[in-house]
Amino acid sequence: MPQISFATNNRQFHVEVNDRVKQYFKDNHLSQRGNGKLFFKAFFMFAVVFTLYYTLVVAQPESVAINFLLLTIFGTFLAFIGFNIMHDSCHGAFSDNSKVNDFFGYSLNFLGAESYFWRLKHNVLHHTYTNVDGVDDDIFKPPFLRMSPNQPYNSLHKYQRNYMLFLYGISTLFWVFYMDFNKYFTNKVYTTDLPKRTFKTHVTFWVTKLFYVCFYIAFPIYMLGFGKFIVGYLFYNFVMGIVLSVVFQLAHVVEGAIFADALDSGVLAIDEDWAIFQMKTTFDFCPDNKFITWAVGGLNFQVEHHLFPKVSHVHYPQIRKIVKEVAAKHGVPHNEFNSFGEAVRSHFNMMHQLGQAELALA
Ligand SMILES: [Zn+2]
Repeated sequence: MPQISFATNNRQFHVEVNDRVKQYFKDNHLSQRGNGKLFFKAFFMFAVVFTLYYTLVVAQPESVAINFLLLTIFGTFLAFIGFNIMHDSCHGAFSDNSKVNDFFGYSLNFLGAESYFWRLKHNVLHHTYTNVDGVDDDIFKPPFLRMSPNQPYNSLHKYQRNYMLFLYGISTLFWVFYMDFNKYFTNKVYTTDLPKRTFKTHVTFWVTKLFYVCFYIAFPIYMLGFGKFIVGYLFYNFVMGIVLSVVFQLAHVVEGAIFADALDSGVLAIDEDWAIFQMKTTFDFCPDNKFITWAVGGLNFQVEHHLFPKVSHVHYPQIRKIVKEVAAKHGVPHNEFNSFGEAVRSHFNMMHQLGQAELALA
């Protein structure tokens, strides 16, 4: 893994925003983790998923239109479980009880992917080295996508804006069937070696994959036949992949976000305090839209999430006010898009710009 350091001479913003947020929880006698509403949301989302699974696989509605409608909701709610339950739990933000976090962290295994790998990939590499080429695996999708100005260009990238949604659509299948196995057998996440794994993590990996095959593939084939199964399976995975990828990408691969490169040299000294670097690589979107905030598990408040990843997303709308205030005081940017459409447009524009070889954005 490349050696990366952050400047430490400009820490006033980070210190003050930390103090102010800590004080907010103290003054309001609140836990920084999830609350009853989050538990209810988790219960509701799982209930929707199991009800739809039963309806699609066992009850089997006759209408083709109804089937596709239910598959769309099924794929979307699987993504919602990822945003709301898995993401908070894997950060240790779902509950004050670490066992509860571990339990709900397995919601990612329920979706077919290994939560152990996610914790290193996301909590450590992505959150510490956001938009740093050579470490942040979220922006490393060669050869088809060029997601940072430092990455080598090929002639396909010219068209990436046109085909990126297709790649997002197949990303969950790619994750379940290729990326997890790649991490397992290479013992690496991108350029970073995994620590020595315990026997339990090996067992969890294989149980997860076996469960996935039985629950999402074998039983539906037994009930529906292969033809019906494969159409439904590809369709809802496509929906889920697009919802997951778009929401995660809107925070960092947009116009105005900065990138850094540790790929070529293997050594990088970032000339910013870590918290200020987070503020320059990260964007919020539609912070006033209550439905989107509920549905994407606060991932529209990524600025606040990146500063306070162990705080549950249920608190982000309040924390945002504090972060904005302190950022303005210290002359630090607080980036946000007012609407979902604006954020999506900016992501597509950014991918288009990154697809132009001659454009130097760094
Ligand atoms: Zn996160």
